[in-house]
Amino acid sequence: RELTIEDLPGVGDATAEKLRESGYDDIMTIAVASPKDLAEISGIAEGAAIKIINAARKYADVGNFETGEEILNKRKEIKKLTTGSSNLDNLLGGGLETQSITEFFGEFGSGKTQIMHQLAVNATMPVEKNGFDSDVLIIDTENTFRPERIIQMARAKDLDPDQTLERIHVARAYNSHHQILLAEKAADMAREYKIRLLIVDSLTSHFRSEYVGRGSLAERQQLLNRHMHDLLKFGTIYNAVIAVTNQVSANPAVFFGDPMNPIGGNIVGHTATFRIYLRKAKAGKRIARLIDSPYLPEGETVITITESGITD
Ligand code: ADP
Ligand code: MG
Repeated sequence: RELTIEDLPGVGDATAEKLRESGYDDIMTIAVASPKDLAEISGIAEGAAIKIINAARKYADVGNFETGEEILNKRKEIKKLTTGSSNLDNLLGGGLETQSITEFFGEFGSGKTQIMHQLAVNATMPVEKNGFDSDVLIIDTENTFRPERIIQMARAKDLDPDQTLERIHVARAYNSHHQILLAEKAADMAREYKIRLLIVDSLTSHFRSEYVGRGSLAERQQLLNRHMHDLLKFGTIYNAVIAVTNQVSANPAVFFGDPMNPIGGNIVGHTATFRIYLRKAKAGKRIARLIDSPYLPEGETVITITESGITD
């Protein structure tokens, strides 16, 4: 018999119910949870949460050191999602990877939201057409999701626009706490639908506007850190692509070169596996630059935004 969370010492029926409601419904999810989160959700003391987590770690195959060969085998499960542009796909080594966070950052109008729409459409495409045949979750923080745009892009790919729209689930996040909550709830959706793409557009805008001033910076970074790890966990558990957008701010201390920096500092920089910087160029063109990849060379390429969507 497979172990359930009730088998963990200290988890009675009431606690189990609370844990289940919050998505902590198997041993593995509890084994990788943070004591603070678990305590908050189930209403138990942090000390008790630590005991439950430790017990779950004993039962769960949390993983010890793995050989390079074992990791290579796990990486074989990784799938790559096309962006619609073969230039950009090539720069990314074939597309956006599952089990990682890919961040697109750039100024207003640089095409971040357009790319998110295109990724959503592409993920719904059948596997024969390089899609994931999957439903999509979008956390929309700036109210920029446009079904009309999905219809245009779906038509351009010979997809049924209504069926495509039906597979894209959008939640509007009204503030940063709501955004964090929606990311936590994503697992509920993943149990009901096959979700291989989760989009947050934009990752940082609420955090940026709500936590202003030096005094609140630490709290902002802490929340952003937790949020990004929730996203990464979702990507790992459900073998999903996590695509997020980020704004830039000008660094007034830079006199030479590009003064634009992504928001979110080290936290976002370290948690996103792939970072792409988008810059406007002439006539619908955008320059996409890959920054900080664990195994791909830095480089840049040109993509085009047309009515049909993202192309070379
Ligand atoms: P960001 O999210 O980075 O602020 P967007 O992704 O919203 O920027 O990009 C907006 C730009 O995308 C517009 O300025 C326009 O150049 C382009 N765009 C939007 N819709 C279309 C369309 N239907 N056809 C062609 N280009 C479009
Ligand atoms: Mg946008």
